[in-house]
Amino acid sequence: GQYTSQKVRRTFIEFFTEQHRHRAVPSAPVRPRGDPSLLFVNAGMNQFKPILLGCADPRSEMASYQRVVNSQKCVRAGGKHNDLDDVGRDVYHHTFFEMLGNWSFGDYFKVEACAMAWHLLTEVYEIPAERLYVSYFSGDAASGLPADEETRHIWLSLGLRPDHVLPFGMKDNFWEMGETGPCGPCTEIHYDHVGTRNAAALVNADSPDVVEIWNLVFMQYNREGDGGLRALPQCSVDTGMGLERLLTVLQGKRSNYDTDLFTPLLSAIHQCSRAPAYSGRTEQTDAGRVDMAYRVVADHVRTLSVCIADGVYPGMTGAELVLRRILRRAVRFSTEVLHAPEGALASLVPTVAHILVSGIMEIINVNEAQFLSSLKQGRRVIDRTLSKMDRDAVNFPAAVAWSLHRNLGFPLDLIDLMLEERNMAVDKHGVEQLAAEQEQVGGAEERGLHMDLQSLAELQSRGVPHTNDSPKYSYSLQHNGT
Ligand code: ATP
Ligand code: MG
Ligand code: MG
Ligand code: MG
Repeated sequence: GQYTSQKVRRTFIEFFTEQHRHRAVPSAPVRPRGDPSLLFVNAGMNQFKPILLGCADPRSEMASYQRVVNSQKCVRAGGKHNDLDDVGRDVYHHTFFEMLGNWSFGDYFKVEACAMAWHLLTEVYEIPAERLYVSYFSGDAASGLPADEETRHIWLSLGLRPDHVLPFGMKDNFWEMGETGPCGPCTEIHYDHVGTRNAAALVNADSPDVVEIWNLVFMQYNREGDGGLRALPQCSVDTGMGLERLLTVLQGKRSNYDTDLFTPLLSAIHQCSRAPAYSGRTEQTDAGRVDMAYRVVADHVRTLSVCIADGVYPGMTGAELVLRRILRRAVRFSTEVLHAPEGALASLVPTVAHILVSGIMEIINVNEAQFLSSLKQGRRVIDRTLSKMDRDAVNFPAAVAWSLHRNLGFPLDLIDLMLEERNMAVDKHGVEQLAAEQEQVGGAEERGLHMDLQSLAELQSRGVPHTNDSPKYSYSLQHNGT
């Protein structure tokens, strides 16, 4: 079927939540919190850095993460990952983009990560396998890092042809977050847009014909301040796939700017400028320069909108200064090349908002879908319990409330809301007793759940609602017939 950006995002999240029991986590703001090594959030893993380093606050919710999935707003316009100079010149680097990612923190590793990615791309998104190439780390003598032969074998066992599995060195297949921070060998998936015989030669060659779409990083080291590598306390998986690039593949386009994330914006630019309509050229000709200006303005207006919404304003230092440069580039291209009037840039913001709001709607939809069947089930349990109770009872049985809470992810305040029309409330005292009892017995067996009892009890006492959906599926390679 026809893929919209919303459907692509949703399919990704649901594949990992429903088939591989990952927990969906919201995007962090693009302004990094408490990490001076970063100007902007440049990858999905940034917010999970404390888990990777083994220093997450054990009382935080994050400490219980084992498998998570998300779509992260990223900006690559400064620091180690800086794509500002490519933007507009090519059709697949943006300063702002969304990164779809799945993580395993000390849970599954290489085999499962590769199998899940392959299954998602070829069976769920139905991308033809012969158009996909993978790269793996060829090792680095200078750093004493071995070649990742294990990953090569995994791809071969998943059915890839040997000439589609290619070795690359530090620059392409050893991923690092910044000058310091978590890092490790990676394996990447590239898409051949053309179907040419020499596609393998175009992998990692800056060609618009063969474009990298997904990076699977096997986090094993931390790059220290002195440049050395220290082994991390546990092996983790960190993946990132550009939503815009995947969408281009799934919509059968050759350029990210020809997808539904950009076409409305390019028409809006056309409408407020005095330039000919966008025609997708990249050559160094007059028409090419006009199209480049379209791409720069479209990209930069997205970045400006997202950054300002997240509290980064154009200014004089750090990220603020970068944003000021981005704004000034956009002004210059819209004025001098597209001949747009003063005020044109700001007039594009509603179009950007309209496009990106679909991401917010998706998050709500995914969360709604996760809870809907539990809500129906819980409603039945509540009605059945009420029908057996005295008409003038005021306390709803603690055991039932506790079970709704534990097994179906009902926040206790929600149960109270549902009982309001019957002038009833949950027996709070009873629930507290049950929570305390469970805390003593449960401990060890509960590790597999998303949240341990201590943080559960803590959240309860603070009245913070949470989901506690029990795992529906467990991952095994056999299940997928691979
Ligand atoms: P490239 O080699 O194309 O510059 P990368 O190797 O720098 O990409 P990673 O750091 O591996 O990218 O990020 C993971 C994924 O995020 C990439 O595979 C790609 O799909 C996407 N991505 C990276 N940079 C950009 C960008 N500037 N614009 C859009 N998508 C991007
Ligand atoms: Mg790059
Ligand atoms: Mg790359
Ligand atoms: Mg990469």
